[in-house]
Amino acid sequence: EYEAQIPIQADDEIGRLAKAFNIMAKAIYEEDMRKREFLANVSHELRTPLSYVKGYSEAILQGMVKTKEEGKKYVKLIHREAGRMERLVRDLLDLARLEEKSVPLQKTLLVFAQVVEGTIEKYEPFLQEKAITITVDVNPDIIIEGDADRIEQVIHNLLDNAIRYTPTGGEICVRLTPAGNERCQLVIRDSGKGIPKDKLPFLGQRFFRVDAARTRTEGGTGLGLAIVKQIVQLHHGTITFASEEGKGTEVVIDLPI
Ligand code: ADP
Repeated sequence: EYEAQIPIQADDEIGRLAKAFNIMAKAIYEEDMRKREFLANVSHELRTPLSYVKGYSEAILQGMVKTKEEGKKYVKLIHREAGRMERLVRDLLDLARLEEKSVPLQKTLLVFAQVVEGTIEKYEPFLQEKAITITVDVNPDIIIEGDADRIEQVIHNLLDNAIRYTPTGGEICVRLTPAGNERCQLVIRDSGKGIPKDKLPFLGQRFFRVDAARTRTEGGTGLGLAIVKQIVQLHHGTITFASEEGKGTEVVIDLPI
């Protein structure tokens, strides 16, 4: 817990100066803590797959693998962990670029429904694999000004989660509607496991996971929603989450038309 450094003795000019100093010192302290925490998280996330890669390759090198099948199994595991590291590094770089605004968005006028439907199409095989029913109800007249690739990335990440955290045979519903004259809402609802109420405010923080141990095995990087949040903000939009545990999750993206 952070403690103020300068005691404030009076409400005069010096007192106010001390107060301002304390506020600034606290902000610097908190930023420092965030950086440390971020670094600790990155190290942890990389260390886990790395130790698998090291362990499995050592087993092969030490001749512990007797059959061809066994060898293939180990190489497959190494490949899977390398993939995890690759996704992590990709998402980290992507997030850093978005936060720094180092790559300007390529904004054009987009028929929002087309982007939504195009992205959903790419997910057909995954939806079929999990026997998930998807209902799509998108208003074809909504035009937004946005970066097509980035908007697709938003829908991609949200659909990815909806599918990942919804059991076989579940339902996903995607709706796009106007909200007043100047804004629109994209709603992605799933019938999955949901998120506890007290965890909702943390969604979108880097590496936040509701169930750390379990979700890590499911292949996510823990950066998907942080990336979504950045992209939405760069489009002057907002994102909100609503959820009921065991019933499902609803994500609402609100954007200017
Ligand atoms: P991850 O790569 O772990 O999915 P995200 O940033 O995309 O990272 O999501 C952060 C966490 O939020 C997830 O680990 C999961 O616990 C929770 N979450 C996100 N979307 C959903 C959803 N549709 N249903 C249930 N939980 C979700």
